[in-house]
Amino acid sequence: MNIILIGPPGAGKGTQAKILENKYGLKQLSTGDMLRAEVAAGSALGQKAGGLMERGALVPDALIVDMIAGRMEQPDCAGGIIFDGFPRTVDQARALDAMLADKEKPLAAVIQLTVDEDELVNRLNTRIRQAQDAGQDVRPDDNEETLRHRLEVYHSQTAPILPYYESAGLLQAVNGMENIDAVSTAIATILDKAVSS
Ligand code: AMP
Repeated sequence: MNIILIGPPGAGKGTQAKILENKYGLKQLSTGDMLRAEVAAGSALGQKAGGLMERGALVPDALIVDMIAGRMEQPDCAGGIIFDGFPRTVDQARALDAMLADKEKPLAAVIQLTVDEDELVNRLNTRIRQAQDAGQDVRPDDNEETLRHRLEVYHSQTAPILPYYESAGLLQAVNGMENIDAVSTAIATILDKAVSS
């Protein structure tokens, strides 16, 4: 089973992906995590992506599609993938469709996590405080100004994916304002139905 989690930054995609990994034996592929690893390693991709990420801009589609195409071939993805933070543009969505069609492993569902913007700002500030309290580094794009820009990018470049998947009959919205358990129960209900149909 392959699924996509889509939603603005701070909607809880990563948290829910971890829960789904355990429950369904799927592999979470977070393009944000993969890019941060490239930046930390100082690779050519990391050098191209780092500045864009820091500003909250998207990394070019071709780089992202190449990166994820390679990762999807790894054996740990054979049991199915949770795409977290990908696709983020309609062109990425089309590229993913083509890759999955080649493998004859279509998407089971696209889950949209909806969260109010005020709540996203609250969550960001909590995350920053918790990282500081724990003596951890705060991500360079985790500040209120960059979050606002990431939200604009989400609305202008990523939200157009929603009608794309809606017309394919795959889109399901879940209220991401609820607590973690309630959200994961709602997602599980959708996935159990998708698997059994
Ligand atoms: P995330 O951890 O998913 O919030 O991603 C952090 C940053 O990585 C984003 O703000 C983008 O700069 C970049 N990024 C992650 N995934 C993608 C993607 N699918 N397409 C373009 N840029 C991405």
